Amino acid sequence: MPLRYICYDCGSRGSDGSGRCGCGEPLWLDTSPDAFDWDDIVDAPGLWRYEPLLPASLPSPPSLAAAAGGTPLLRDDALDSFVGASVHLKLEGQQPTGSFKDRGSALALAAMEAGLLGESEAIGTVSHGNMAMSTAAFAAAFDRPCVVLVPDDIPPERLGVIGQFDPTILRVRGDYGRLYERSLELGSEYGIRFVNSDSPLRVEGQKTTALELCEAFAPSTPDGIVLPVSSGGHASGVWKALGELRAAGVIDDLPALHLVQAAACAPIAEAFAADEETVSAVEGGETIAYSIANADPPSGTRALRAVRDTGGAALSVDDDAIRSAQRQLATGAGVSVETSGAVALAGAKQLVADGVFTEDDDVAVVATGTGLTEASADVSAPAVDLAALDGLLAEFAGR
Ligand SMILES: *Cc1c(COP(=O)(O)O)cnc(C)c1O
Ligand SMILES: [Zn+2]
Repeated sequence: MPLRYICYDCGSRGSDGSGRCGCGEPLWLDTSPDAFDWDDIVDAPGLWRYEPLLPASLPSPPSLAAAAGGTPLLRDDALDSFVGASVHLKLEGQQPTGSFKDRGSALALAAMEAGLLGESEAIGTVSHGNMAMSTAAFAAAFDRPCVVLVPDDIPPERLGVIGQFDPTILRVRGDYGRLYERSLELGSEYGIRFVNSDSPLRVEGQKTTALELCEAFAPSTPDGIVLPVSSGGHASGVWKALGELRAAGVIDDLPALHLVQAAACAPIAEAFAADEETVSAVEGGETIAYSIANADPPSGTRALRAVRDTGGAALSVDDDAIRSAQRQLATGAGVSVETSGAVALAGAKQLVADGVFTEDDDVAVVATGTGLTEASADVSAPAVDLAALDGLLAEFAGR
């Protein structure tokens, strides 16, 4: 069955999820789980347990897809006292490439293997970090050509990490926000499936973070879920999953979704504080949480809606608070997280200070990425102009 897409906001339908809705908001997959219960979980590894709620199944042979999802929830006294509530730390650093991005990459590759994406042979992504690494690793596992578009000024260490999996890497000069749209346009022209931060299949894969959390707390639910947010893709997936569980009658009330940003670049938190309906681009300064510094988040408005719909909050924390949370995770709990992952713990602590949570609350804190990802490889990544991208991608796609 072909995939069908729908707009969360205006309800319009679309047949191609790589575009946006006419209203300007991102589309997501039109999945209507009329019946689902935890008994319907299938006997499969990782995130594939939730196959009845996903658009694709575990590929055969499963390859790296078998390793995606199924991350543990860690309890540690040091984290409880640091935050001032009962912390349930979701360790996304345990994924094959060290971040939750593997959930979306696994699902996208599974959909391609199942022929759900028509003619696309190659996969691509626009990212300067974890998503690039994740997409490249899964493409390598499934023998798909992969092109990764990174900003021109990417640090060489990051290139080394991505380059391990041998994708085609192009360092693109020009507006990074514009690159996101341009990649989708050129991708549909050249049969390259760009699975960017909030692409519908990535959102489907990222639903499983919330499915795992809710299953772990069943038949109850956590008092809140705290997630660092950048593009809003992960938040969209978590919100969609909660909605599907409620539609199926598995949960009654949605746990509050709290989204945390770095203060230097916090368009969603600022829109929330100002009671705005939509998220607008901000200037965006430097922060140590580089993976989540998106000044113009493509799913920002959708993430804001998720916060309001679940009765949560969008907030920001400064770099000192992020550093202190990162240090606490490492020295108190032995968990290495990257700065972006530490943002969630810093946010949970802030929410206790704000009186949102008390010490009796069970708070699911998603540590989205490991701090251990350091590697290097000899990488060739030519710097190219955005204007030259058309020709280069045509050549890459062999057209
Ligand atoms: C991508 C990423 C985020 C932000 O997720 P979005 O879906 O872009 O909001 C947070 N933490 C880490 C470690 C990431 O890699
Ligand atoms: Zn719409």
